[in-house]
Amino acid sequence: MIFNIQRYSTHDGKGIRTMIFYKGCPLRCMWCSNPESQSYSYSLKYNRHLCKGFEECLKIGNEAVRAGENGIEIDFTSKGDVEIFRDICPTKAVTVSGEEKSTIDILAEIEKDLPFYKRSEGGVTFSGGEPLSQGPELVELLQELKKREINVSIETSLHVPWEMIERCIIFTDTILSDLKHTNAEKFKRYTGGDATLVMKNLIKLSALHNNIVIRVPVVPDFNHSMSEMKGIIDFTISLKKIQEIHFLPYHTLGNEKYKMLGRRYELDETKKVDEHELADYIEYAESKGLKAKIGG
Ligand code: SF4
Repeated sequence: MIFNIQRYSTHDGKGIRTMIFYKGCPLRCMWCSNPESQSYSYSLKYNRHLCKGFEECLKIGNEAVRAGENGIEIDFTSKGDVEIFRDICPTKAVTVSGEEKSTIDILAEIEKDLPFYKRSEGGVTFSGGEPLSQGPELVELLQELKKREINVSIETSLHVPWEMIERCIIFTDTILSDLKHTNAEKFKRYTGGDATLVMKNLIKLSALHNNIVIRVPVVPDFNHSMSEMKGIIDFTISLKKIQEIHFLPYHTLGNEKYKMLGRRYELDETKKVDEHELADYIEYAESKGLKAKIGG
């Protein structure tokens, strides 16, 4: 399931790129700026500020949306068919995130920009959510892109079974791999996941693929300290073949999305990280021979 296709992106890989955002992720990073990407099914969203009280959503008669004392009330836990709300609200106060698209549909979107990829040495970047948790459809799409000689990057947490990584890497030009933390307890507390799975996958991957870029979200209280960052950088260096590391400063741009999904944002008190705070990490990484930069 896809939750967004973004054309003409100049981040997240070389040249002009089409970004394909998959819905569904095995992790629950507390700072995630795309919370709508975490669930593997449709997500109902409600923006109270856009609601003009037309009540088109109530006319559907679905239990997920009802009239409350202070206007519309949403049951975000509803397991019913929320897709019926997709185009119902004239002001887009109620929307649905997620869309089933076939390989042919996605290819058609990608091929619209073939001339731009050629001229800019761009291509396609798969993101999410976690693209490598999508199953056989992704492999099929990657095979088609390889046949067409379209450059492919994948952004991944590597928090997936090795078998899926192995099936995809032969069709992938660049792997943009998160390395959020090397401490298992910290990783578990802030993402719900298993750091050792990521590190084991990264060791295997670095033996098989020559173009891996490590990406580190820098998040206060989670990993924003020299000792924790040294752990991440030293592990990267130990893999020998990886030459590049990117530091992604924590920002607060996704916070409002949590309200629209009826969720609490757990890092509400956390301040954004300024780029100058990353200078020591860059210096340390470069001193160890890595190419280091801020941002994707
Ligand atoms: S891995 Fe990425 S998409 Fe998944 S929860 Fe973490 S930040 Fe969000």
